[in-house]
Amino acid sequence: MVFKSIFGQEKAINLLQHDIDSGKVAHAYLFSGPAGIGKMKTALQFSKATACLEGGCLKCMICSSFEARIHPDFKLIKKQGNFISIKQIRELEHWVVLKANQAEKKVVIIKDIECLTEEAANALLKTLEEPQESTVFISLTSNLNAVLPTIISRCRQVKFRAISREVLLEYLLNQGYDNKKARLAVNLSQGVFGKALDLMKTEKLFELRNVSLNCLRKALNSDPNQIGFLVESLLATIKKFQEKEIDNASFAPADLPPKLTKEMKAKIKRAASVKGQELLLQALDFWWLWLRDVVVFSETADRDSIVNSDLFDEIDEYCQNSEVRVSWCIVEKISEVKTMIKNNINSQLALETLLLESTAQLAKI
Ligand SMILES: [Zn+2]
Repeated sequence: MVFKSIFGQEKAINLLQHDIDSGKVAHAYLFSGPAGIGKMKTALQFSKATACLEGGCLKCMICSSFEARIHPDFKLIKKQGNFISIKQIRELEHWVVLKANQAEKKVVIIKDIECLTEEAANALLKTLEEPQESTVFISLTSNLNAVLPTIISRCRQVKFRAISREVLLEYLLNQGYDNKKARLAVNLSQGVFGKALDLMKTEKLFELRNVSLNCLRKALNSDPNQIGFLVESLLATIKKFQEKEIDNASFAPADLPPKLTKEMKAKIKRAASVKGQELLLQALDFWWLWLRDVVVFSETADRDSIVNSDLFDEIDEYCQNSEVRVSWCIVEKISEVKTMIKNNINSQLALETLLLESTAQLAKI
């Protein structure tokens, strides 16, 4: 079954499976629900089920090139900067009227549909009003309230729900993962299924946590003159992580034609460069979670409230020996710094400023 890799979204899957089984696939869907719970993965699987001549065999050329997002009958639209532009929708309009190349149906996935500009939204509405039999639209949003009601009303709605931490933990334990590590992964992922799995499957994210927390702890305890150097070395390590990702990603299924293999490699490389920014944002999340632990534990002394449960001793020690208020300063500014990084502000400068301003405030206390 094409959806067997999707976890915890039975209601959504049943609805989609029902549409497939009854031969009544709608021309437009809207998947809504929190980020990181499998909307994109489900959309991809659903695409294969509707495009594959065998109904989603997961083995054929169509299935594998849909998975790699390189099939001519597949299109993925993502925001460029903060918006999905009219230019992107115009290109889509041209593509929509084309006949399917090889697939049973063409599929377009529009990620973050709430980010359409007004002009783009109006153009898309027109396209949705004139359904093309050969094209299926799947729009995704983690902010349903921000989606235009006129768009919502033209789509079949599929709601994805947040997975509770208990269910997520149970899933990881059933997969045979170590209890202590699984609990930590559920905490650190803040219940986001994809991230929890990443934490369990690779050591990479745990390594990233070590490296980023090392930098933070040293910065909090050292001479401000050292902060530039500490940030530089954190960024260099993140770059190494990113390069490893590119190496690991430089493969393609052996049975793809050379042209597609080349395209796929290029796409993977582009994706890996985006990964660099994601890793940095994740490093900041690790800072945030650790500082949050410090703040919460210093106020409640409740051991169970600590997310980084394996680091209890050092958090306890830090709370006893250090000025906790500086943690507050950083916690409050981290989301601002994350936005700056998403807008491609120099990350060395952004991180240095964050740490320097906060430690300078500490000096005043
Ligand atoms: Zn197939």
